Amino acid sequence: MKAIVADFSIKREAWDRVRSRLMRGGRESHGITMDLTEIPEPTFTSPNWVKVRSIMSGISTMDEGMVLHHDLSAFGASLSFPFVPGNENVGIVTEVGRNVENLDLGERVIVDPLLSCEPREAQPVCSACSRGEPAYCRNFFQGIIGSGMLIGACRDTGGGWGDYFTAAASRLRPIPQDMDSDHAVLMPEFSRAVKAVLRNPPGTGDRVVIVGGGSLGIMVLLALDMLGHDQPILVVVEHPFEVDLVRRLSDASVVLAHSPGAAFEGVAEFVQCEVLYPKVGRITLAGGADLVYETTGTADRIEDAMSFTGEGKRLVLSALNQTSGFDMSPLWFKGIHIEGVGFSGRELYDGDMVHVLDIAVDLARKHSFPVAELITHRFSLSEHRQAFAALASRSTSKAVKIIFQHVV
Ligand SMILES: [Zn+2]
Repeated sequence: MKAIVADFSIKREAWDRVRSRLMRGGRESHGITMDLTEIPEPTFTSPNWVKVRSIMSGISTMDEGMVLHHDLSAFGASLSFPFVPGNENVGIVTEVGRNVENLDLGERVIVDPLLSCEPREAQPVCSACSRGEPAYCRNFFQGIIGSGMLIGACRDTGGGWGDYFTAAASRLRPIPQDMDSDHAVLMPEFSRAVKAVLRNPPGTGDRVVIVGGGSLGIMVLLALDMLGHDQPILVVVEHPFEVDLVRRLSDASVVLAHSPGAAFEGVAEFVQCEVLYPKVGRITLAGGADLVYETTGTADRIEDAMSFTGEGKRLVLSALNQTSGFDMSPLWFKGIHIEGVGFSGRELYDGDMVHVLDIAVDLARKHSFPVAELITHRFSLSEHRQAFAALASRSTSKAVKIIFQHVV
């Protein structure tokens, strides 16, 4: 089958180090290679697993870290090489294990990609999974498949950037008849936005800042609205087209971070506090927002987000894809509370504990979900270089969500 394969080469890493010294500013790849190639289709050994033919796969914020920054830290310490990326997947079930009862051949599905104790059949089940927090699973190295936190970051399962991948049947959700595949491919990311809001809802009178106008930022904005929160919101974006997008989809305030001080001035005005321009060190705020959702996962924006957060207030990291060279000083100076949201799991919804993917699907069906505004670019696997180029030049490509569309 065709697949984009991510691999790690020590030789390549050494060469990249030499090259980046010789050619100052040369792009470092940290030894990561990503190539379209022919590989055998993935297989499964457990009677509880299934094989899925890919229809579509999004480029997630974690993939973005890998493509743009060659930083794989978002996939955790458990990554196994070589792997096929792609953790936001829609596909068709083509083969089922003998114990599988909840899925039929030919069924269209979306996938919870987390490879925690349950799908990897690890025994004994870890304490995090036992208490219903699979995002913090300790067994990403154990069980019936090779190590890896996600489908799309494990050498044995494949991922959505290949024609086929495998998954535990329990992690798949049949897509409702009335939901098309374009909607469905956005549900894994939307479930992360929903989880971020359900775990960290704004309180009465809170002023809320969303950092990032990419697909995850927009989805946090949608989740806040769909879950009934009407607090004042300011979205901090990087590109002029994102200002228009936020305005078309909501009545939230928006500020364009076109210069280092612009975002700080915008947040200061929104929360009524002062910008500090120190002689030494970064710009910061004397005060800040009650609740900040950081959705880009990049080092610079996370540093900004810490500064935008008020003293003793909350910062929610809903993405993390570049972890090198962080300035964590606002943590000390402002005593803020940071929560990393992670993947999957159940949250309280309408009085019950419900899987976040099912909450996302329910909300998207009850409300108008702006798919056409979000999916801006589609590519085949063989056009992956164009896809990565569109991702790297968002100011001109105006990419919000980029997906790979398979030929089925
Ligand atoms: Zn576990």
